Amino acid sequence: SLVMAIESSCDETAVAIIDAAGRMLANQVSTQIDFHARFGGVVPEIASRKHVEVIVGVVDAALEEAAASLGLADSVAPGELAAVGVTQGPGLVGALVVGVAFAKGFAFAAGKPLIAVNHLEGHLYANLLTTPDLEPPFIFTLVSGGHTMLVHVRAWGDYEVLGETLDDAVGEAFDKVAKALGLGYPGGPIISRLAEDGDSKAIDFPRAMMHSHDYRFSLSGLKTAVVTYIEQEAAAGRTIHLPDLAASFEAAVFDVQFKKAWDALKQTGAKEYCLGGGVAANPHLRELLVRKLSRRGVRVTLPPQHACTDNAAMIAEVARRKYREGDYAAFDMDADPNMTL
Ligand code: ATP
Ligand code: MG
Ligand code: FE
Repeated sequence: SLVMAIESSCDETAVAIIDAAGRMLANQVSTQIDFHARFGGVVPEIASRKHVEVIVGVVDAALEEAAASLGLADSVAPGELAAVGVTQGPGLVGALVVGVAFAKGFAFAAGKPLIAVNHLEGHLYANLLTTPDLEPPFIFTLVSGGHTMLVHVRAWGDYEVLGETLDDAVGEAFDKVAKALGLGYPGGPIISRLAEDGDSKAIDFPRAMMHSHDYRFSLSGLKTAVVTYIEQEAAAGRTIHLPDLAASFEAAVFDVQFKKAWDALKQTGAKEYCLGGGVAANPHLRELLVRKLSRRGVRVTLPPQHACTDNAAMIAEVARRKYREGDYAAFDMDADPNMTL
């Protein structure tokens, strides 16, 4: 039985189709980055409109890709799907509504059940795409454009949020620092590429809340420290070495992430750790966590790099499991922009 999943919470219109065994038959992502880049961030009104424009085409492409994966000549027909999953929240309300309304209409017309998926759970389940045998209890760090969360996953669906950010999310900090440097949007991939050739010890940026003895994070002070550094260097007539700046910024962020993750692992006694969200695509964060935690006897699971930023494959994996359990949504279900774990 095939489950189709739709994701439209932010600036990606994505559709995936998964089979009962978890094989991804289609994985389409249409990104709007180019339309938002000139504004330095996602413009909600543009996001909604672009989702409306492309969603039918992305669904058609997914149905065709699934057919090709199955070796069929014709596109998979809506009636051949077992269920339709969709991201219910959190995200931009106008963007979510497009996916939810489309999914409802599509599922209703095809006479198939509707499945509501939490986008944050999607980021967690992205780990199952590489590691199907991942089983709670474990510690999960979500580092995305809108969230920074350290979570004790006691069982599937049983989430103890140990701590969150008090201000900016990690991905947001990457985006703001890149913007301050005039480097473009989104900042994460740009900064991580620059950091490759940089010295992470070149500039000693603050590690906020590193020793706060809790699981809360704060990123806005670091962002200010970077901006202050840029201004000071400019005032002194020095040119900024961007790779060193990028590498030092990353190190300040990631040192705190490692410290708190390790504290949470020790406190809970969990022996497994996983990561999710757009920043999980960062090769330096991945390498640092694998190296430092494996050495301490923790098994580290990472999502595939392409399934860290928003995609529908991770939504399809959640929907597949919910379908198996008969966990369906009512057709009067609404988008919920403020959903949490
Ligand atoms: P949320 O999932 O919290 O609702 P979102 O869906 O907007 O937010 P994601 O798509 O999960 O966020 O992640 C996007 C963020 O990931 C952006 O802030 C982007 O800069 C960041 N990012 C992407 N690639 C990298 C990278 N290689 N290094 C660091 N950050 C990255
Ligand atoms: Mg995005
Ligand atoms: Fe996301």
